[in-house]
Amino acid sequence: MLYLLDSVHLQSAKYFSPGYLYKKNISSSTDILNNPVEYLTGISAPRAELLRQELNIHSFKDLLEHFPFRHIDRTNVDKIAGLRPGMEYAYVAGKLLNMEIIGQNRGRRLVARLQDQTGIIELVWFQGINWVQKILHVGQSYLVFGKLGFFMSQPQIAHPDLENFTVENAAGRAHLEPVYPSTEKLKAKGLSGHLLGKFTKEVLQRIQEKDLPENLPANLIEQYKLMPRFQAYEQIHFPASEKHYEHALRRLKFEELFFAQVRMQLMKLERHRFSRGQVFDKIGEFFNRFYNDYLPFQLTNAQKRVLKEIRKDTGSGKQMNRLLQGDVGSGKTMVALLSMLIAADNGFQSVLMAPTEILAQQHYTGITEVLKDLPVNVRILTGSTPAKQRKKILAECVDGTIHILLGTHAVIEDKVQFANLGFAVVDEQHKFGVAQRARLWKKNTIPPHVLVMTATPIPRTLALTAYGDLDYSVMDELPPGRIPITTFHRIETARPQVMDFIKEQVQLGRQAYVIYPLIEESSKLDYENLMKGYEEVKSFFPEPKYWISMVHGKQPADQKETNMQRFVKQDTQIMVSTTVIEVGVNVPNATVMVIESAEKFGLSQLHQLRGRVGRGADKSYCVLLTKNKLSNDAQERLKIMVATNDGFAIAEKDLELRGPGEIEGTRQSGALNFKLASLINDKAMLEVAREAVEKLLEADPDLKLPANEMIKKQLHFQKVKTKWSKIA
Ligand code: ADP
Ligand code: MG
Repeated sequence: MLYLLDSVHLQSAKYFSPGYLYKKNISSSTDILNNPVEYLTGISAPRAELLRQELNIHSFKDLLEHFPFRHIDRTNVDKIAGLRPGMEYAYVAGKLLNMEIIGQNRGRRLVARLQDQTGIIELVWFQGINWVQKILHVGQSYLVFGKLGFFMSQPQIAHPDLENFTVENAAGRAHLEPVYPSTEKLKAKGLSGHLLGKFTKEVLQRIQEKDLPENLPANLIEQYKLMPRFQAYEQIHFPASEKHYEHALRRLKFEELFFAQVRMQLMKLERHRFSRGQVFDKIGEFFNRFYNDYLPFQLTNAQKRVLKEIRKDTGSGKQMNRLLQGDVGSGKTMVALLSMLIAADNGFQSVLMAPTEILAQQHYTGITEVLKDLPVNVRILTGSTPAKQRKKILAECVDGTIHILLGTHAVIEDKVQFANLGFAVVDEQHKFGVAQRARLWKKNTIPPHVLVMTATPIPRTLALTAYGDLDYSVMDELPPGRIPITTFHRIETARPQVMDFIKEQVQLGRQAYVIYPLIEESSKLDYENLMKGYEEVKSFFPEPKYWISMVHGKQPADQKETNMQRFVKQDTQIMVSTTVIEVGVNVPNATVMVIESAEKFGLSQLHQLRGRVGRGADKSYCVLLTKNKLSNDAQERLKIMVATNDGFAIAEKDLELRGPGEIEGTRQSGALNFKLASLINDKAMLEVAREAVEKLLEADPDLKLPANEMIKKQLHFQKVKTKWSKIA
């Protein structure tokens, strides 16, 4: 495609004003793409301000990267009489018959009627009425594009894109014209998607290939049959054909995924090469005695494999940063414990951070139990540890008495200093932010190894993108003998039957959870619901025949702990709780999990809750209680919960339903802000890009080869722009 710079200049005398030339000289000496959008024809200062506010478009480059979400065939104008409900967009040409303001206050709107040879369509504005009234002229012909609606079976477009219909724009226009995401406010101010296209076209006309140079090496372009970069930018906005558009899109998506991977993998590589790590070069008494004499079961193959990976990392002299993905109940805790024993054998201390007090306490109980005949010093530190005890623990951390410190966030506070911290475990990762992970690194002069364990699986695509700088282990195997949990979905009205079912199980000696949603920690309504539920459960299970524990976030820690322990010791048969119980709690005798208002929970949370049962030798059940009327998404969530116990499959579905930004643990990750690529639809391409980057960095880890110079340049450019943080 050829763009003539001169024709642009001729269109507007404004370009020749001295002020403009002055500005232009300055910018062209640096980078034309950084020119502010004010330099374009028709963008006044207020308009530029609007573009900044509404779409975060500041520069030429921002405009180029504001991609169209579809194209319309401008050679094909719809006939008004042919518009039908179900057509998403209408594109019509006609004469403006009349316009009037109707309604009052909030209902006030401008209604115009446009006629072609076949019929009449209504155009409606709710905002910017005065402005629209000023620029439109009755009797004039317009090309109109917008989302089609019907009102009293009349076709209608609210806040349409409009342009004058003239002989010039009727003929000789591109087949496919871009339609850009815009906002109501912009449209109301006359900055339609169409106008955005005009600005973008001008940018493309004013830049040259050197301004938007190729950033992928020739061999990759060749191998993956990618459209050259400059051309791709042209064609994604103004494609010569649909094929051209698809090629352009593919190229730019690949570029996005490729550079995201380059950044992640470089980080990883750099850490592998330059970071020093504590060396665990032997296995000693602690590990061997425990492994040979006290290990309560045989490790699964997956556990053995991951342990080997960890041993290799921790013996390498480099710092380990490993993400351990395993389904609920796959036995991650044991892997962590064995690793911490190896650390102790090598003279190092360990910490294990859990997201809740209950879970920390449970780890403490479980770990001290299995280690009770071994001289390993284990302590627990949480927010509610009494001051005197805390002081003692802090001293024992400093003098090295403590081998393993368990706890909540409290263990990473600055006041907690170690004689020689060598290993840190972050359990149930999604409750911990990125910043906390970083704080761990500073706890020793040579940073400790870090093992991050997820509560429920994250889809692989997401893990590769959001945690691509971490090494990655998967435990895809549950300990043997687990009986799959059967899940039911029931309407609330069936609660009495569900309670009867619990009764049956309790009479068999089992225990049950009844969980209520806690949407906000402070929500009064949630607590009222919980209390109401508690009373209701109590009416089915009266004392002293039955006993009920209740746990929620507003209780003091010791009360929570007492209630929890009563349930663990089987003094109570039923646990009524909010989601504080969600993560990690382990009571193998519990066989029923009832989740009230299950439609209010996300998939990973439901899966995590369900994972509280099915931990022992007995068949377990999960009942999802909901109201009758459900949204489509809620129905989908319940359906997959009933259909499968596989956390990896559920994670994929979660990603599909909610999008990457909403998946727990990834919210802060800037790495997921793709403009074009989608982790849901472009999985295959992500794998291709990842492999391409792996190969590239294997051959040229420093990007020293002349052929890879362009990659380095691009990275530098992005770094300057985004201030990429060292920790993803
Ligand atoms: P998660 O991976 O969800 O944190 P846990 O570490 O809590 O799982 O383990 C779940 C249960 O499985 C615990 O009761 C644990 O003792 C048990 N377990 C772990 N590994 C094995 C194994 N190899 N064989 C049998 N039981 C195991
Ligand atoms: Mg766990």
